[in-house]
Amino acid sequence: MLYIFNLFCSNFFIDFCDQLHYNISYVNLGRRKETTDCMKTRILSLVLVALLLFIAGCSDNEVYEPPPEPARTVSPPPEPEPEPECDHFWKRPDCHNPSICLDCGETQGLPLEHVLADANYQQSPECVNCGDIYGEPLESNFVRHGLRVNATAGRSYDYITITNLEPELTTIGTAALLYVDVFNTDEGYPAKAGYEYIVARLMITFDDENARNHGFQYLTGQVDYYGFDPDEIAVIYEYLRDSDIPDFKIASRKLNFFGEDYEYYMKHTQIQNEWVGDVTYLVIEYAFLVPVGFDGLIVYVSNAANWSEASNRVLSDNFDNDTLFFRLRSPTS
Ligand SMILES: [Zn+2]
Ligand SMILES: [Zn+2]
Repeated sequence: MLYIFNLFCSNFFIDFCDQLHYNISYVNLGRRKETTDCMKTRILSLVLVALLLFIAGCSDNEVYEPPPEPARTVSPPPEPEPEPECDHFWKRPDCHNPSICLDCGETQGLPLEHVLADANYQQSPECVNCGDIYGEPLESNFVRHGLRVNATAGRSYDYITITNLEPELTTIGTAALLYVDVFNTDEGYPAKAGYEYIVARLMITFDDENARNHGFQYLTGQVDYYGFDPDEIAVIYEYLRDSDIPDFKIASRKLNFFGEDYEYYMKHTQIQNEWVGDVTYLVIEYAFLVPVGFDGLIVYVSNAANWSEASNRVLSDNFDNDTLFFRLRSPTS
């Protein structure tokens, strides 16, 4: 093929040279130098063709053929060595983790269930094993019955109650808790282990025309913010028994504090009950002996219309009508 192409090219260039020769001859008006010139042209042509062929050949060689992939043999992964048997050293399960082997980490079974202690008014339910805390402390019975503390010591509040002689008439006076003292012992207040005294002085005044003409009735007492029982608002004083603390009586109810029931002691003393000019003063001192830190005592001052003569108790449905509730101590939380 190359040979034929070469031959063709040669003949072509020979003819081309002849023609050129003819033309040059024509231009040179018959001066025949054609022999030398034509030889040069032919040699030049041959070199050109050879060069073209060389380039064509080179181009052919530049086609890339990837070398054949070497044959590979794939060997399977080595068999894992069998693990030596663990004798297992089991750690006991707890509330958060199952039983676990301390050597190999293998687990067995499920975590233990929490063992929740009963909640109380001060504490949320707590797991006796791990100490985790769930939920909230018990809700105060006082709050659960829709009541709320609405008065604080050191401030004077309007106090509405019925008159003594004309119970259909009301008088509007004032009520204030003058102070609250907390102490462990004092003269006349012997120390009692785990207990402390809370002493509060309540002052009630009236000076309006109805009070001057008809007197007044009052209703006051004490309830427990936590263990409030609407059926025992009035009877609490009916079930006091003597105690070894002078002048103090033991209440029939107990105080629940951090899940424990405690007896508590009380004494109330009328300090003053008299008219001074146009103003009548009624001053009562309440003294309690309660577990240290107990903050649930409430002294209330209520419209005497909330007292039921027939049932000899406070009408608990209306307990918060015209009633001031003084919590003797702020919540400790
Ligand atoms: Zn193990
Ligand atoms: Zn637990």
